[in-house]
Parts: sequence; C-alpha cells; structure tokens
Amino acid sequence: MEKRIYVDNAATTKTDSRVLEAMLPYFAEVYGNPSSIYAEGRAAKAAVETARAQVATAIGAEAGEIYFTGSGSEADNWAIRSAAKALKDKGNHIITTAVEHHAVLHTCQSLEKEGFEVTYLPVDAFGRVSVDAVKNAIKDTTILITVMFANNEIGTIMPIAEIGALAKEKGILFHTDAVQAIGMVPINVKEMHIDMLSLTGHKFHGPKGSGALYVRKGVKLTSFITGGAQEKNRRAGTENVAGIVGLGKAIELATEDIPKKAAYLTKLRDTYIQKMLDTVPYAQLNGHPEERLPGNANISFSFIEGEGLLLFLDMKGISASSGSACTSGSLDPSHVLLAIGRKHEEAHGSLRVSFDTENTLEDVDTIVTAVAEIVERLRSMSPLYETFLKEQK
Ligand SMILES: *Cc1c(COP(=O)(O)O)cnc(C)c1O
Repeated sequence: MEKRIYVDNAATTKTDSRVLEAMLPYFAEVYGNPSSIYAEGRAAKAAVETARAQVATAIGAEAGEIYFTGSGSEADNWAIRSAAKALKDKGNHIITTAVEHHAVLHTCQSLEKEGFEVTYLPVDAFGRVSVDAVKNAIKDTTILITVMFANNEIGTIMPIAEIGALAKEKGILFHTDAVQAIGMVPINVKEMHIDMLSLTGHKFHGPKGSGALYVRKGVKLTSFITGGAQEKNRRAGTENVAGIVGLGKAIELATEDIPKKAAYLTKLRDTYIQKMLDTVPYAQLNGHPEERLPGNANISFSFIEGEGLLLFLDMKGISASSGSACTSGSLDPSHVLLAIGRKHEEAHGSLRVSFDTENTLEDVDTIVTAVAEIVERLRSMSPLYETFLKEQK
C-alpha cells in the first residue's frame, strides 16, 4: 500500500512485529490441543498459561482471575450476563452510563427485555459520569454497576477508582470495559476495586479475535459457552492458542512504559487539537480537555458531514473515523456526542483521530492542513453555511 497516515487506532491497531513473531510457532509447530496430555498439548497449554500470567500482571490481577474470550464484546456480554444471572435472586437493577460501547448498551437493553431494570446515567458536557450520580442511583435491588474506563469515541476517562471504592463500600459488583484504556492508563484492579474488567488484544497491537475478562476471585462467574472444560468449565471451545499468545505478548509490551508513551501521544494530541481549533473556524473539541486518552482527539466541525470529510481524507491518504455511525449504514448520530449535548448536525460533523507512537508531529501538520482544506470546500457547498454567514453580517 502507498504511504498513508493511519490515525484510527481506537478502531484497531497494527499487530506489533514482536507479537506476530511470538504467535507464529503456535500455528504450524506447537499446534497441539492444550487439553491433550502429550508433549504438543502440554507445550500449547504452557503457552496459554504464560499469556494468562502476562495479562494478570498487566492489570495487577492473579493468573487464576483471567478468562480468555474471543473479543472485547464477548467479555462485556459475559461479565454483564453472568452478573445478572448469578445475582437475579438478590435484585434486578443495573447501573450504567449513556455513553457505553454498544457491547454494553445492547446487552443491558436485552436484559431489560428479560425483566431487569437498567439506569443509564447521563454524563456532563465532557462525557464524565459523576460519582454522586452513581451513588444516588443505587437501590436495594442494585446488583451491578458497569462503567467504561475510557470512552472509545471522545476519549474521556471516567472516575473508575472512585466508583470502585463506592461499589465496594455498598457491596455491589463493579465491571468496567477497559478496552480503550489498556496500555494508555495504568490500571490496577485491586487498588481500583474493580471486580470484572474487559479487554481486547487488537486495540493494543495484538491480534484480532483475542480478548479477556478479569473476574475477581470469589465473584461467581456463570459459564458462557457450554461444552468442553476449557477456561475452568466456563467457556468451552478449543483455545485460540496463537491469539492468546499474541494477546499476552501485546499486553506485556503495551504496559511496559505507559508514562513515556502517554507523554508522546499527549504531545501529538494537544498539538493537533490546538492547531485544528486555531485553523478551522466553528470547530469544537468533544470530550474532556485533560481527563482524556492520550491519543484521542475528537472535534466537531459545524456545517459539514463527517462522512464527506472521511472520504476526502481517505483520498489524501489519511485514515480516520467519524463520530456518526453512517459507515454501518445507519444515519443515527453518535449516542455519545448526543449525550454530551451536541446537536444532531454537530454530531454528524465530527472527526475522531486516534494517534499511535508511529505517528509524528509532521503527520499532525499534514492532517490539520488536509482537514482545513476539506472543511472549507465542504462548507463552500453548504447552503446552511451560506445562510449562517449572511446572518452574521
Ligand atoms: C473496540 C471496543 C470494544 C469491542 O472490542 P472487540 O474486540 O472489537 O469486540 C468494546 N468496548 C470498547 C470501549 C471498544 O473500544
């Protein structure tokens, strides 16, 4: 492929060459089934257990508390459905937020159809839920609080340690979707009082189709796929050994030196945001200015459609993402942007850029120049913009 600028790392990342190298032997050399007792099987089993320890170490857990899944979505589904099933005699109330990933939101909606009651807490203009709002939403029937660690669209980081402390005090199970936060924010599940945590390899330079769910020892986890005895009888199916090995290696690399990586990404992000807001009129930042993922910048441009912007950026060799869900064939504006108070038309004109350490300050300049040019062109064709300018005079 031609040299392109890839700034959609919140959607997925390139598999690290060291991860790929670690995975390769587990396709054609160490291909045994981890459940088998002979040498090939034992070697595969050992590799799975090494990866389990790597995942555990990265989040301050114990190896026995890690369950491998096929994705972050699966980990979210499993955590929430397991809590609902295991605790339904205790209560039927779940607390979450309006800005969760659809893997959480749609799971909660589906549980509502089964008789559970769900509170979708609003967030402030920066996308943060308040700890007081969580506290006030708690009832005698509350069995689960699920709040994402960091938002995938606008990058806002939630007050997870505070919510964890509150959940612990009230004796309520606490799950967090930490898919976007792994490798970007230091996480310690014990210190933060997290009972369950979802993650997925492909968001931090691991392979696609490999995720994990952390479940604190002592928390009942119901089985998700029935069949074989894999994952302590909780998730049947022969392990994705190579994928699991890749996940383990990737999380080890991703959490090696978070402060250094975060400092570099923050520099790219803040330079980008500053330059963009200085260059393009009628643009506004979505999400929290500081409490946000180091690599995430989401900006709304009035009077344009995000899809048009993405298409022209693609033609200029830049891969980014829009806040609206139009790529999936739906014209619904992002639920996250609506939740922080953006109007429909502002939500439609948003651009999410998510940087990686391979990006440079030169990339930032290239993107700002390209976006400024395209936004001007799109606005010059917009009757709304024309009317707006006339009214300004
Ligand atoms: C990407 C993402 C997921 C889904 O992970 P998959 O492995 O793609 O299923 C869940 N939650 C958040 C916040 C995400 O960004």
